[in-house]
Amino acid sequence: MTDCLFCKIIAGRIPSKKVYEDDRAFAFEDVNPQAPTHVLIIPKKHIVGLKEAEEADAELLGYCQIVAAKIARERGIEQGYRTVYNVGPSAGQSVFHLHLHLIGGRALGWPPG
Ligand code: AMP
Repeated sequence: MTDCLFCKIIAGRIPSKKVYEDDRAFAFEDVNPQAPTHVLIIPKKHIVGLKEAEEADAELLGYCQIVAAKIARERGIEQGYRTVYNVGPSAGQSVFHLHLHLIGGRALGWPPG
């Protein structure tokens, strides 16, 4: 999608600190990290958000979780991390290309704010 920030990052038209890429997914450092590890994992397919995802996207969404787990393993943060979708503006979604937050490397409180 031409007017999407994260599609532009995937295409390399906006710079990012790339963590991982394959034919289905792209991962990069969050520009405003909330923890020592804060990586965004996104499908290359433009999906607006979780509530817009369709059943046909189920494997892709699951795959993003597997990519997150792989990054967490590589970073040695398996003691405790979180994968989070913010869904809709009231939950803090500010970019409307589906993105999975991988947050870890510090103690994480519960419930989240
Ligand atoms: P959300 O608030 O769940 O929509 O998450 C969007 C995330 O994207 C935020 O954590 C932002 O810090 C992050 N973000 C926005 N622009 C960029 C960018 N150009 N590069 C990396 N992360 C970004």
